Amino acid sequence: MSTFLQELVAKGLLIPTGVDGVYGRSGVFEDALLGFDSYISRLAENDKAQVMRFPPLVTRENFEKSGYLKSFPHLAGPVFSFNRPPAEHAALLERVQNGEPWADMLAMTDTVLTPAACYPVYPTVAREPLAKGGRLIDVFSYCFRHEPSIDPARMQMFRMREFIRIGSPAECEEWRDQWIERAGHWLQDLGLPAESAIANDPFFGRGGKMLALNQRAQHLKFELVVPIATVEEPTAIMSFNYHQEHFGKTFGINQSDGEVAHTACVGFGMERVTLALFKFHGLDPDKWPAGVRERIFV
Ligand code: AMP
Ligand code: ZN
Repeated sequence: MSTFLQELVAKGLLIPTGVDGVYGRSGVFEDALLGFDSYISRLAENDKAQVMRFPPLVTRENFEKSGYLKSFPHLAGPVFSFNRPPAEHAALLERVQNGEPWADMLAMTDTVLTPAACYPVYPTVAREPLAKGGRLIDVFSYCFRHEPSIDPARMQMFRMREFIRIGSPAECEEWRDQWIERAGHWLQDLGLPAESAIANDPFFGRGGKMLALNQRAQHLKFELVVPIATVEEPTAIMSFNYHQEHFGKTFGINQSDGEVAHTACVGFGMERVTLALFKFHGLDPDKWPAGVRERIFV
């Protein structure tokens, strides 16, 4: 029996590159993914979130400041480039030619691949004081995580559509909580029986275990999960995070009364939702149930 990944590749929906978790997407896959993106835009229209679109990079300065390396050094994707004198160029090519390591001939640049679509937002909103009532931002970006896997739902580069709430603790937590139910209905209407679950991030190392337990105990992260690759281990297709004052403190975001701002974000895993649609309704969108088709392909 072939795996779901093999079926997706055979159908041409995902195009292998030779590296686990890095794929091209077919036109049919993109139509479904972007159709889901418009579905979100239509349903969230009245929220009047401020749209921001960033390239899939964050500045190294903001990345270092964010604390990402404390929690997830294993997933990071800093960008490196060759900036040595021309005299050393031949040595670089020779090493590559001979199959020898060449990483030490590179130097870090000022950019890091974006680990989550919301990362460029926090330093940006920190530039001006928050008005009363806080802010609501809408972002969409490819994200990178170094977690090679043969599970098609665990990619190294994938897209996230996110909404980010910045304001008081109550504004953030209530906003995050109502989103769990709201998004659950949206997915149900697409025939995806997503269930909510308390979750934690994959914090690194032994200290990370404590952070994960603490995150769960405080209900800081929820996910909506559906079975994609296996029934035993359902996949998170959406996340609902309450960061408390982490980003507010880190980047200097203050509420209108001068208190440190809290933040929360709600993220749609765009490839995962798309894969779930193919898993539940079949690999041919022409044959999807009418109710799903009319919501995705408007
Ligand atoms: P997170 O920031 O880890 O909560 O991720 C936000 C959302 O992105 C998750 O709910 C997933 O739907 C999606 N996601 C996370 N990691 C991956 C991955 N490796 N491949 C595809 N989608 C992912
Ligand atoms: Zn986020």
